[in-house]
Amino acid sequence: MNARLRAACVVGWPIAHSRSPLIHNYWLKHYGIAGQYRREAVPPEQFSEFVHSLAARGYVGANVTVPHKEAALALSQPDDRARGVGAANTLWRDGGVLRSTNTDVEGFLDNLDASAPHWDRGLTNAVVLGAGGAAHAVVYGLVGRGIGRVVVVNRTRSRAEALRERFGSRVHVAEWPDAAVLADAGLLANATMLGMAGQPELPIDVKRLPGHAVVVDLVYVPLRTALLRAAEGRGLRTADGLGMLLHQAVRGFALWFGKTPEVTGELRALVEADLGSSAA
Ligand code: NAP
Repeated sequence: MNARLRAACVVGWPIAHSRSPLIHNYWLKHYGIAGQYRREAVPPEQFSEFVHSLAARGYVGANVTVPHKEAALALSQPDDRARGVGAANTLWRDGGVLRSTNTDVEGFLDNLDASAPHWDRGLTNAVVLGAGGAAHAVVYGLVGRGIGRVVVVNRTRSRAEALRERFGSRVHVAEWPDAAVLADAGLLANATMLGMAGQPELPIDVKRLPGHAVVVDLVYVPLRTALLRAAEGRGLRTADGLGMLLHQAVRGFALWFGKTPEVTGELRALVEADLGSSAA
């Protein structure tokens, strides 16, 4: 390792599938920044030691992925977003303090802003499918944007109820799968694993959504999920999971390398090609 280079990494277990090195190393090269971004496979029992030795390992910070996001929160000084979501996915050293945030929130919102401008104008009712880690970031983001009613629909109802307890009275819970809630949903977000390659399809009929609805799928393998294809077939506006992945990466890069990078068509094409080649 070149000790003079600023370095960051993505930490997970497993980690081989992560596209974060592709994204950050593209930006490093694009902006001519002498830095490095690496993968670190760290099992849960070694995560705490890894985080405590970030500086000794030459890292200015890290992305954190499954299964370490809750542990990362506990081992750092979280901002309001990470604390609100209950998980951290980005760590950075600030003097002697290790800080954290959750960039899935802005990844979700910024991707919608870029893909379906003004999606939140007049939006009063959103439906979120799922109640796991990603759904926490989505609901936090929607409530923060002032959406009046966010209906959470999850296979395990008690996890949806936990979201209502966490985020308050604007969050409502409906049965899984409840077609009736779609009729007045101005936004539908899929934050479950369903529709992902190797998983069953979502039991959702987009024909029940109103004509002005926007549909967002957090799944990005495959890139164009059956949900997105059906929504586009109906002429609805959509935002995809790859866009969220790219937008969530922006803040970490800015914190570690001092430059706010752009999500461009060229970057998107690079990651799309990589997803395509690994799916083939
Ligand atoms: P998670 O915490 O494990 O939650 C998984 C969710 O999927 C739960 O709500 C679970 O319901 C539901 N689910 C799983 N299998 C199901 C089935 N057979 N039928 C019905 N529901 C099922 O995972 P996560 O981290 O939230 O990730 C969820 C999705 O978001 C994944 O596809 C992930 O790749 C994607 N994601 C994308 C981005 C991005 O940047 N694009 C970022 C984060 C996550 P139960 O509670 O009933 O188990």
